[in-house]
Amino acid sequence: MTLHWTHAATDGRARAGMLHTAHGEVPTPVFMPVGTAGTVKAMTADAVRSTGARMVLGNTYHLMLRPTAERVARLGGLHRFMDWHGPILTDSGGFQVMSLSGLRKMDEDGVTFQSHVDGSKHRLTPERSIEIQHLLGADVTMSFDECTPFPATHEEAAKSMRLSMRWAARGRKAFVERPGHGLFGIVQGSTFEDLRAESVAALTEIGFEGYAIGGLAVGEGQEAMFATLDFTTPMLPATHARYLMGVGKPADLLGAVRRGVDMFDCVIPTRSGRMGRAYTSRGQLNLRNAKYAEDDRPLDPDCSCPACRNHSRAYIHHLLKCEEMLGPMLLSWHNIHYYQALMARMREAILAGRFEAEAALIEHDWTKDGEA
Ligand SMILES: [Zn+2]
Repeated sequence: MTLHWTHAATDGRARAGMLHTAHGEVPTPVFMPVGTAGTVKAMTADAVRSTGARMVLGNTYHLMLRPTAERVARLGGLHRFMDWHGPILTDSGGFQVMSLSGLRKMDEDGVTFQSHVDGSKHRLTPERSIEIQHLLGADVTMSFDECTPFPATHEEAAKSMRLSMRWAARGRKAFVERPGHGLFGIVQGSTFEDLRAESVAALTEIGFEGYAIGGLAVGEGQEAMFATLDFTTPMLPATHARYLMGVGKPADLLGAVRRGVDMFDCVIPTRSGRMGRAYTSRGQLNLRNAKYAEDDRPLDPDCSCPACRNHSRAYIHHLLKCEEMLGPMLLSWHNIHYYQALMARMREAILAGRFEAEAALIEHDWTKDGEA
């Protein structure tokens, strides 16, 4: 059987379910830590597992440049290479080509670009992106698309979305079916309802194992993102997983789960951790702030991660001041642990039919101890 999602409960529009993959089952809603270059930055695979994370994301763009998809394949695939035995979703490389690479030239067939590492020239097409993700061994392969920049006019967004839809059809043909593996299509169309509807119609006509919502969290702001989700998620098939790409902060996750999204990935918990920021059940903390120099409390009294169990805010503040590697490591560990706990709490609430009551508690607690 191909990769698929089964429904367990709906509460309002929030959904709980299970993603069935070649490398195990994943309860949804789920947050996938981002393992850009074959590692969730500053964390061992064991540490990532210990947070309760069941599925991680790998980046096609980074891995095709270093160490190359062919080398990963020769070394037994990405699961073995990075010691991650659960499911892996790989992105298509399209977003990073636009955001990271140097000179690039896009045509109907694909995109030629310069590596941000050494300036070398590379080409990605829908077929090559699917082939790379196959070589990596992804459980969930993503369609190659153009992430429409924001803001875009209706005409620009339509042109970009229609190119992505033609690329999605080519990717579907190139994808090699294997049990427990699947291909997701990506809905584009910026913040325009008619374009999102056209994109959903094009993708469901082709048929995918899951549907992602792309082109959000690109500067439109939370209000516009939620407004776009408000009309987009009801258009998607109720029978398939919905994945909001590149989102977000805890409040974004809660708001998107409320609007019927099942899957998320984002660099925020690890990137913010490396910069000294903690997300907690009582709000965000910036541990570089001098006010934590003698604060003997844990980051989050309600968290059971090693950073919170064994260390004080004062200690983590000290590590950051001294630029010790352990500071970013502990904060990344805590943040991923907190994200996993938040997703589990939302899932339980959906299953129990009390999502809004729990969401109100969560949102209230965020105001207790944090900083803006
Ligand atoms: Zn913690």
